[in-house]
Amino acid sequence: MVQRIIERGEIESLDHTALPRLHLPEAAATLFTTRAARLRDLVDGKVEGIAFNSALAGYLGLIRDLILAQAEIAKSLTDADLDMPDQKSLDLALDHMMPPLAAQLKRPPVWRTILNRLIDKIADESNDARPELNAVLDSIRALSEEDLEDQANMILAQRHEEVNPAQAPFIAAALQVLWTARAAKLNQQKVPMLETFTLCPVCGSHPVASLIRIGGQSQGYRYLTCGMCSSQWHMVRVKCVSCEQNGKISYQGLDPIDAPSPAPAPVNKANDPRKYVRAETCGDCQCYTKIFNQEHDYNAEPFVDDLATLTLDVLVSELGFNRGNVNPFLWFGETE
Ligand SMILES: [Zn+2]
Ligand SMILES: [Zn+2]
Repeated sequence: MVQRIIERGEIESLDHTALPRLHLPEAAATLFTTRAARLRDLVDGKVEGIAFNSALAGYLGLIRDLILAQAEIAKSLTDADLDMPDQKSLDLALDHMMPPLAAQLKRPPVWRTILNRLIDKIADESNDARPELNAVLDSIRALSEEDLEDQANMILAQRHEEVNPAQAPFIAAALQVLWTARAAKLNQQKVPMLETFTLCPVCGSHPVASLIRIGGQSQGYRYLTCGMCSSQWHMVRVKCVSCEQNGKISYQGLDPIDAPSPAPAPVNKANDPRKYVRAETCGDCQCYTKIFNQEHDYNAEPFVDDLATLTLDVLVSELGFNRGNVNPFLWFGETE
């Protein structure tokens, strides 16, 4: 490899501190459109690193309808809908190292309007063909404002025992639309780092999975993806996403390539779909989080890729680990 001479000024720009600690989401409509396209590829079996489990097809089809509805509604949101905090509140959040768009603290009521629009769209498409689905949608319509705010709080706090697993994906989807659109409007430089890496610095929600990114100064670094606002924040590798310990971390993949073998191990090259997804398990808290590696699949989309890799959840739970964080579109019910 040819090494070129680096000028003085360039050395400064290569400074390691330039590592982007946060990637805010792109415009919400674009993000949800991309997510829906990825989900179609997953269901069509076009994603090499993920052996798609056909038992999930019906469920993921519904999730795709939901994400397409999210994209359409995101397009129609106005600045008034986003109800962004004023400069004073943003400065205050920065000074106090608080998430500027804390989803647990102050929710613009428009999120409930978004929820109604999502429900109407899904009901239209269901067209009486899915009576069970329609019953769930009707049960959400029957909730009072207070019940809805309460469910939103329980979902955001991941209080399994208080969450209605059938209603939760729709409620979470409405929150995602508003929070992703709001996060996209922030100035990255004005978002504080929190004292904990286990919560989103933008909205204070839980991460859904982690991603090793490629490209530019994020190359090879691990980012956690927020399950609500889709922001990605940096966290060092080989560290538990639940308890932040690093002493008993190991990795579980789906492929026997991970098992020791007498045959010479293949060279660790990029674009090996077998290495795309792993579970990072922690022996200290017995939790795990999935880690996707963009080196092995450029189109990585942690939120939906997580849903499509349930086989890995089953495998890791059989080894005695619990999911550290919930995917808000999939509630397993009670865990110990
Ligand atoms: Zn967030
Ligand atoms: Zn842990």
